[in-house]
Amino acid sequence: MSDCLFCGIAAGDVPATLVLERPRTLAFRDLNPQAPTHVLVITRDHHADVGTLAHADPEVMAELMASAYDVAVQEGVVESGYRSVFNSGRDAHQSVQHVHLHVLGGRDMSWPPG
Ligand code: AMP
Repeated sequence: MSDCLFCGIAAGDVPATLVLERPRTLAFRDLNPQAPTHVLVITRDHHADVGTLAHADPEVMAELMASAYDVAVQEGVVESGYRSVFNSGRDAHQSVQHVHLHVLGGRDMSWPPG
């Protein structure tokens, strides 16, 4: 989608600090990190949210989840723990309408989330 920020990052047209590149997914550091590790994992193709991705392309969904785990390993947060979050829709404050999985770690995190 030409007006989608994360499509722009996937295409290399918008700068981002990449941490992982896979055939159909990629990961980059969040511009406004909420934890010492805060990485976003996205699909190269445009999907509006996790539900539409899961139904449209389960194979890419699986790659997205595996990439998130690989990011956690790379960031050294698997042993200490990390959180993987999809925000979907208004009440969850999804601000970018291109599916993205937040990988957060490196500090103690409260539950339930706000
Ligand atoms: P969400 O609120 O779940 O839609 O998350 C969107 C995330 O994208 C937020 O955590 C933003 O800080 C992050 N973000 C927005 N623009 C950029 C960008 N250009 N590069 C990296 N992260 C971004």
